[in-house]
Amino acid sequence: MEFLDFQHDPAAEKLVAEVYAAPPMAYIHSFGCQQNVSDGERIKGVLCDIGYGLCDRPEDADLILYNTCAVREHAEQRVFGNVGALKALKEKKPGLIIGLCGCMANQQHIVDKLRKSYPYVDLVFGVDGIDTLPQLLSQKLEGKKRILLAPAQRPVIVEHIPVRRESDFRAWLPIMYGCDNFCTYCIVPYVRGREKSRRPADILAEFKGLVAAGYKEITLLGQNVNSYGKGLEEGMDFSDLLHLLCTVPGDYRVRFMTSHPKDASRKLIDTIAAEPHLCKHLHLPVQSGSDRLLAAMNRHYNVEQYLALIDYARQRVPGITFSSDIIVGFPGETEEDFAATLALVKTVGYMQLFTFIYSKREGTKAALLPDPTPRKEKTDRMQRLLDTQDAIAIEKTAELVGKTVRVLVEGYGREEGTLSGRLDNNLTVEFLADESKIGSYAEIELTGARATVLLGQCKEA
Ligand code: SF4
Repeated sequence: MEFLDFQHDPAAEKLVAEVYAAPPMAYIHSFGCQQNVSDGERIKGVLCDIGYGLCDRPEDADLILYNTCAVREHAEQRVFGNVGALKALKEKKPGLIIGLCGCMANQQHIVDKLRKSYPYVDLVFGVDGIDTLPQLLSQKLEGKKRILLAPAQRPVIVEHIPVRRESDFRAWLPIMYGCDNFCTYCIVPYVRGREKSRRPADILAEFKGLVAAGYKEITLLGQNVNSYGKGLEEGMDFSDLLHLLCTVPGDYRVRFMTSHPKDASRKLIDTIAAEPHLCKHLHLPVQSGSDRLLAAMNRHYNVEQYLALIDYARQRVPGITFSSDIIVGFPGETEEDFAATLALVKTVGYMQLFTFIYSKREGTKAALLPDPTPRKEKTDRMQRLLDTQDAIAIEKTAELVGKTVRVLVEGYGREEGTLSGRLDNNLTVEFLADESKIGSYAEIELTGARATVLLGQCKEA
């Protein structure tokens, strides 16, 4: 793995200043996961570094970049819908530059479709190309007609890319990129490439910078954070990295996502137990409660192993809560398989569940499997899963009433004059307090619940 340092491009900055009378505006929209949102913050940073401003309406932009997601069919259709809507804008504003990047843009059939059917799209580059954006834009501003790069995986990590964060108290901090797991339904390994971990010293430096800047919550990101460190000469694994980061003094909490159960170890659980800065919550995507389907998904664990990890975590970390991802309707899923999934959901008792109906992704192994289950059957199962989980979540939320908890005040509540805060376990509570508390921690007594939203009273004035 090669590690490079981002270089400011004075020539690109000069060219932008020459081409535009006033600083040009960029509209960046990221679809999909937190990793994409984090990439979007780096795209904004790189653009501001060469003189662009940022706007929040496409109509006001000189450059529109869609940072795309490929995880489900629906996500891609949404992007094409949005790009289609830009045709009229481009006709009105011929100098407008329209581009796509991110996971969807890192697939050859998508690049070909954009080349053929969207002639007004000027720029296409992959997930690994953020640091090259100044050079790509320079080529465009110097007159190159279209720049549609072929998908590529670079065995490179570029450090010190400028970042324009969305929040000044919650931060995304990527620790690694890519995935080597090849779950049979998942497109990620094909579009984000092989796992590559940032060096611990670079992560620690960025982490220290965030704490010093007053960030209250830092979420470590990776497709599978539990395989952090593979291939690094430092020989540190994810738990070691967590211990290292938690040596930084300050008033902050740390979250991380996503953990693959096959690599989630007792060492990780012991680390969560030992480090006060670590939220006592674990997002552990199980995907199915059927061993037959877990094997067909290439998940490399079975239900017994998964539940053993949950049990160990409950023993070691009092009050720990869990969330998960579940796919309904994987090709060949039987009523028996689905019943096993419902049973697992009842056994674990998740605080939150992110549920998806299987979406066929061209290029994945599962796309080749026969899928006889009618869509109607899948949506019925999804509804039964949601009903089961809602009942569990409402019960678990109600159990918290009467407790006093520390929350990060994130913004306004739904009721006039109320604010909303997030607990360690990712639940939110609404309470009366002055807006000056946004971005800080507060002690809240939980006085009630409305389904899975808690109601509370702020203990401080
Ligand atoms: S672990 Fe599996 S589901 Fe997650 S990104 Fe990797 S291949 Fe996809």
